[in-house]
Amino acid sequence: MSESMIEKEAKYFFHTFHRLPLEIDRGEGVYLYSKDGKRYIDFFGGLAVNALGYNHPGINAAIEKQIHRYIHLSNYFVQDAQVELAERIIAASGFKRLFFSNSGTEAVEGAIKLARKWGQKSGKTRLLNMSNSFHGRTMGALSLTDRPKYREGYDPFLQNTETVQFNDISDLRAKTNEQTLGVILEFIQGEGGINVVKKEFANELTVLQQKYGFLVIADEIQTGVGRTGTFFAFEHMDVHPDIVVIAKAIGGGLPLGAILGNERVADVFSYGEHGTTFGGNPVACAAGCAVMEEIIQKGLMKQAGVIGASIKSKALEMQKEFPRIIKEVRGLGCMLGIEIDRDGQPIVDELRNRGLLINCTNTTVLRLLPPYIITQELCDQLMGELRSILKSLK
Ligand SMILES: *Cc1c(COP(=O)(O)O)cnc(C)c1O
Repeated sequence: MSESMIEKEAKYFFHTFHRLPLEIDRGEGVYLYSKDGKRYIDFFGGLAVNALGYNHPGINAAIEKQIHRYIHLSNYFVQDAQVELAERIIAASGFKRLFFSNSGTEAVEGAIKLARKWGQKSGKTRLLNMSNSFHGRTMGALSLTDRPKYREGYDPFLQNTETVQFNDISDLRAKTNEQTLGVILEFIQGEGGINVVKKEFANELTVLQQKYGFLVIADEIQTGVGRTGTFFAFEHMDVHPDIVVIAKAIGGGLPLGAILGNERVADVFSYGEHGTTFGGNPVACAAGCAVMEEIIQKGLMKQAGVIGASIKSKALEMQKEFPRIIKEVRGLGCMLGIEIDRDGQPIVDELRNRGLLINCTNTTVLRLLPPYIITQELCDQLMGELRSILKSLK
């Protein structure tokens, strides 16, 4: 008997990923089709990457056009797809300069370097992160989380970092001072369970940023590129990050990230002081231009906010119906978490049996990261199935 794809995977790969017991043949819009002919509605969209769904004609056309010109040139050359995407991102974000990376964690590493270099002059050295954060899997990014799940076994980490309790204003006050180089945070924590920064905490962060002059570094890798109805999640709050990192949705499914900086950091790097071989790949940037066209010019970003708000209000209604099981509904736009009183995995599995894909993070948080093109009807279908599952648990 020949080995199945799943058996081969377990044999050939380091055992880092728990893969789903599903073999996908193709995707179309919000749907995934498995090789055994079943159709699934995808409510986690490549973990916040596939913001426009699968097989998007605009993305495909942009990729197709670029691959016939060149797939790679090296960053010795000015590349028009990169320049066009930079122009679009700068216009949408109001930041001064950017640098393209291949991934989220690489953008975080670049942001750490940018901050460290910026701090050389002023003698600021200490980087603060939030409890329960996630910034990626490289050593620098791991130095900026407190979660044993990601860190265990990988020490020693970067020096001069410290964790502030998420949303704890007095802890933030106690740990910031003249030595503080920067504070990195997700304004909505993704892997940590869809935890939103409180207004008062955001306000205090801004007060302390002005008082001590440190950098605020926003990790918008999961939240950014329109997911919450605005280009960045931090726009829902009164904050002024100096550095922002994005990735996930920006490449339309191709690997792409970026570090954005305001005028405070715009001239910190000079020639040769940071670099990358693949970062800003022209095919990925061409796809990125198509993503920007859809979300900004064609209004999909606003739509993400509207449809997300509608899902959230349905989830809040459901919480009234199942107050014992549903503890809290959190998030903004197409980034929502439903915290339940138990392990969410059996619910995720049952939804999958019924043709709906969602994700569970931090054990008890059902996470929805639907593509922005999700429809009301499909959201109602998800809520209907979820209600029926919760009823059977009661
Ligand atoms: C996914 C993610 C990262 C890491 O991105 P990779 O592309 O996997 O390296 C970092 N920060 C946040 C908030 C993320 O969601």
